[in-house]
Amino acid sequence: MAVRQLPPVREMSERQQRGWCCVWCRERLGVDLGTDLGEQRVSPPDGAAYSWFPRECADATACADRAAR
Ligand SMILES: [Zn+2]
Repeated sequence: MAVRQLPPVREMSERQQRGWCCVWCRERLGVDLGTDLGEQRVSPPDGAAYSWFPRECADATACADRAAR
């Protein structure tokens, strides 16, 4: 499965940064749902480095449909 380039963290909501909602379609993810995309380190030019924890829907097809809306 191809790894998609993650969208810029600045465009993500707090829920998306915390992995509560899908990074692509913003669908709320249950505790055991969604695919963990791994910890992402960000080093903003104007602030301290931090981590965020993106997750995406397990069902990529349904996710793509929602994201396209
Ligand atoms: Zn999704």
